Amino acid sequence: MSNLWLDNCYLPSSVLDKGQAPWASILTCADSRVAPEWIFDAAPSDLFVIRSAGNTAFDDAIASLEYGVAVLKTPLIMVMGHSVCGAVDAARKSDPLTPLLEKLVTPIRASLTPGETLDESIQANSRYAANQLTERSAVLADAVKNGSLQIVVSTFNIADGSVSMV
Ligand SMILES: [Zn+2]
Repeated sequence: MSNLWLDNCYLPSSVLDKGQAPWASILTCADSRVAPEWIFDAAPSDLFVIRSAGNTAFDDAIASLEYGVAVLKTPLIMVMGHSVCGAVDAARKSDPLTPLLEKLVTPIRASLTPGETLDESIQANSRYAANQLTERSAVLADAVKNGSLQIVVSTFNIADGSVSMV
C-alpha cells in the first residue's frame, strides 16, 4: 500500500509530510463514478475535496471550504454536479425517504423549478449550492470580493468523462 501511494504521487513523502497546498477545492457528489482526483488527473495535495450525495452546501461543507480558503489559501472552488445524479433525481420525486435523506434533499428541492429536465435540475442545484457558499459564509464572500477566490460551477458528464462549465 505504501508503494502504491508513493508511486502515484508527484511529491515525495518528505514534502507531503510538511503540509498541503491544494490549488482547488471541489464540492461534488458522493457518486462512485465521480472521483475528482481521477477526473482532473490530480495527485495528493492537489485537490481539497468535499463530497456528499447531491453536492449541497451543507454546514460542514461550507466550514471545510472556509478552512480551505482561509488556512490553505485555495484560490478556486468548483461546485461540480454530474449527469444522471441520483440525489437530484430523488429530490425531483416524492418517493418516501428516511428522515435524514429528506434533510439531504431539502436544499436540492429549494433549487428546482417545475417542468425542468433532470439536466437542468442538476445545473440549478449546483448553481444554488455555489450561491449558498457566499450567502452563508462571510469568509468566502470576502475572499471573492477581494479577488483571492473564484467560485465556478460545472457538470461532469459520466458518459464521456467531460467537465462543462455551467
Ligand atoms: Zn450525484
